[in-house]
Amino acid sequence: MTKIEETLHRGDALIVVDVQNDFCPGGALPIENGDKVVPVLNRWIDAALAQNVPVYFSRDWHPVQHISFTERDGLWPPHCIQDSKGARFHPDLHVPESAVIVTKGTRFDHDQNSAFDETGLAAQLRHDGVRRLFVGGLAEDVCVLATVLDGLNENFEVALIADATRPVTASGGEKARKQMEDAGAHLV
Ligand SMILES: [Zn+2]
Repeated sequence: MTKIEETLHRGDALIVVDVQNDFCPGGALPIENGDKVVPVLNRWIDAALAQNVPVYFSRDWHPVQHISFTERDGLWPPHCIQDSKGARFHPDLHVPESAVIVTKGTRFDHDQNSAFDETGLAAQLRHDGVRRLFVGGLAEDVCVLATVLDGLNENFEVALIADATRPVTASGGEKARKQMEDAGAHLV
């Protein structure tokens, strides 16, 4: 049994946040070394499958001219447009048949950074008997941060997989990590 397999137990879930082409080098909103999270997450995904721990993959999935885009006075260049290559998961990411996909960022009126934001994910996790979340993905100071904080607010125990996430900016990443730890997240 690998070390990660020993860490994962019944009642756990793995949440892989937005590991999509547009957030990796060469994408529309690239995060420095964003692709480096892929091999790390793959080890966690494989271990989760070996331990029958459910894996949830969130994806940013925007309509064209989404409200979060600069053309609409939002913060970001157009990215993760529905059905585009940029919106696909990184090609090397292990997305198993049993994966549950959580789609967000589809609303016309506001952005959804957290995988919990109006997706029903908390109810689904409780339905699946999940109590503890292991979270990694992109970006640490945006969607991972929002997902971790919401997970804690929904009374899940939350662990951030420290080497499975990267921030948009180094300073943002430091701030986000402190915010997550202060809110009660563990680092693994
Ligand atoms: Zn987005």
